[in-house]
Amino acid sequence: MTVGKKSKKINIRSLTKEELSLAIAEKGHPAFRAKQIWEWLWKKQTVDFKQMSSLSLPLREQLNKEFEILNAVPFHSQLSKDGTFKTTLRLFDGNVIEAVLIPDAKRNTACISSQVGCKLGCHFCATASLGFKRNLSFDEIMDQLFCLDQKAIEQSGSKLSNIVFMGMGEPLLNFEALLKAIQMITSPEGMGMSPTRITVSTVGISKQIKRLADEKTNVNLALSLHAANDELRSSLIPFNDVEPIKNLIDALRYYHEVTGQRITIEYILFDKLNDDLKSAKELANFCRNFPVKINLIPYNQTDMKQFKTAQMRKVTEFAEFLKDMNIVVNVRRSRGSDISAACGQLANKG
Ligand code: SAH
Repeated sequence: MTVGKKSKKINIRSLTKEELSLAIAEKGHPAFRAKQIWEWLWKKQTVDFKQMSSLSLPLREQLNKEFEILNAVPFHSQLSKDGTFKTTLRLFDGNVIEAVLIPDAKRNTACISSQVGCKLGCHFCATASLGFKRNLSFDEIMDQLFCLDQKAIEQSGSKLSNIVFMGMGEPLLNFEALLKAIQMITSPEGMGMSPTRITVSTVGISKQIKRLADEKTNVNLALSLHAANDELRSSLIPFNDVEPIKNLIDALRYYHEVTGQRITIEYILFDKLNDDLKSAKELANFCRNFPVKINLIPYNQTDMKQFKTAQMRKVTEFAEFLKDMNIVVNVRRSRGSDISAACGQLANKG
């Protein structure tokens, strides 16, 4: 395959099952062929028409002329001393993305990317330094999962148990591909996973949060809040000027009402910035609007030297204050930081 090649053929893996059936019918092939081809592509993960041995040779040749198969290829990987595994995948156009497998005693969690780079420009996040290149297609999202699923089985004998859209990019700005990927992950013909094992993390785009609720995907939603007052949040997340906190409250209320789910709030603790009692009170107030679970994330160091990780004593005090307010709080351990695989460290630096 030539990198950066321009082609008029349709990438057959970018089609959903319904779209594939239509495309195959349009080319004049009988309907059962679509089912066979789907199984080759998605059950057996075949990336070469030549290997689709249940199809006749002339049909394989014809398909090769009508369609192409593009897939993301893992070309580099790193294993952290804590067992976290990061893989770098090259896309058909030469772009590069990263995906991370985070194993623990109970779970194999895949942290996957939704875009090449990111356009949000959060000041503390290493991915922001890449700028934005493009959205991932749904099959490129799936390729990350297939690669990590295989690795999980190799390492632990078990498949992926959880999927978090917390890698590079903003999933709600790549809505169509996100939906297709969720469908594929949850459908019995795909990975057959429960939507409650999927978490979509977002900077907070109210229109899309409401849409995700209306689509009845029933995935978990995590909001990257990091500060519960607009001034401080805008100084960390420029996008907060577009979507201030009151918009987010409204959208998250809606998400809870429609799905019945508890909202996950992600809160990075930065030293002397948002780790004081006043910030904890503001966060507790924010959490009165809907049932929540808070993940406190000690900041993972990046090249942005102006941000420092909160002291462990502060993290504990902050967590205790929230627990006393009867809020469910987890302090997240940073995983894979020695290989730049932790939250906010994905920047294609190897
Ligand atoms: N765009 C989405 C998903 C990608 S970021 C979002 O904003 O949620 C995934 C999570 O990692 C977010 O909560 C993000 O704020 C957090 N994060 C980014 N940089 C980080 C860092 N250096 N340390 C800890 N968490 C970070």
